[in-house]
Amino acid sequence: MQADLFPYRLPLVSPIATGSSVIADRRGVLVRLRADGVEGWGDAAPLPGWPGGDYDEVEAALRAWVDVPDADLSSAPIAAAAVDVALADLGARRSDRPLAAALADHPAESVPVNALIVETDPAGAAAGAVDAVAQGYTTLKLKVGAHPIADDARRMRAVRAAVGDDIALRIDANRGWSVGDAREGLAVAVDVDVEYVEEPTADPVDWEELRRYFPVPIAVDESGADPTAAAALIDGGAVDVVIVKLPPLGGVTSALALAARARAAGLGVVVTSFLDNAVGLHAALHVAGALGPDQPAAGLATAAVLARDVGPMPVITAGRIAVPTTPGLGFAPDVSVLRK
Ligand SMILES: [Mg+2]
Repeated sequence: MQADLFPYRLPLVSPIATGSSVIADRRGVLVRLRADGVEGWGDAAPLPGWPGGDYDEVEAALRAWVDVPDADLSSAPIAAAAVDVALADLGARRSDRPLAAALADHPAESVPVNALIVETDPAGAAAGAVDAVAQGYTTLKLKVGAHPIADDARRMRAVRAAVGDDIALRIDANRGWSVGDAREGLAVAVDVDVEYVEEPTADPVDWEELRRYFPVPIAVDESGADPTAAAALIDGGAVDVVIVKLPPLGGVTSALALAARARAAGLGVVVTSFLDNAVGLHAALHVAGALGPDQPAAGLATAAVLARDVGPMPVITAGRIAVPTTPGLGFAPDVSVLRK
């Protein structure tokens, strides 16, 4: 098997502030594996604030793996995920099946996705929400925790008032609320019937008390970024929903294992992007497809954050993305884009 690496930097349409850092571009490495004339692709793009190593560590781990393909990547999950996805793509292509069909007996034909409402003022957010619903989205997501709690509250109320009661509304505090903020925010979340809140505070220990007082399901995302931490929260009964991102978990195999563990415990599973390019998004789309038709909206409508991508994503129609039906990922990147 031949392995080739394609380092890249893809600019975002506009910088994204996440906690302590600002992301202006996505820097990563595409991995291409070739065997018997068949290719498989994976992507490794670390995100600031997430485990799995920085860019230099990820690239070094992949270069070491190319030199010694049996090298252990377990301490470099983002690099491991790229290899795992490329192997999965390659294997599915060789068996002439879409990846989702190689992963599950009854994959979904399409998966629902949520619209991220990015406007930070209540009127703008309400207008953005109405626009998303007009496009067919039935699940909306608001980021909270980055502005004063009173602003978060106004925005949640404005969006609910604008879209009515039939649209699912989920919020993500990205650990940005204090416990006091979370109490205020969750009181509003109960009022406006929030589907779930991701990462309400920085410490999952707080969540037990919050769940006792507020009937709002809690979702683990960055606090469960490695499979051991996620499994501990699932097994400990600390959360209601598990957000599954392939890169920090180490790829398709461990993402599906975590999803199965969460579902066995009666928890919801939501597959989301890691601000991925089209390679990573296709991989996540097939994993979401493998979870079957009955699932909450995935967080995969993120392709538009990139100003330039390695190829197109399937069109989002009425708030759903079709899972490709051609072999493997159903997609191969155009690496000529990376030289621009
Ligand atoms: Mg999140």
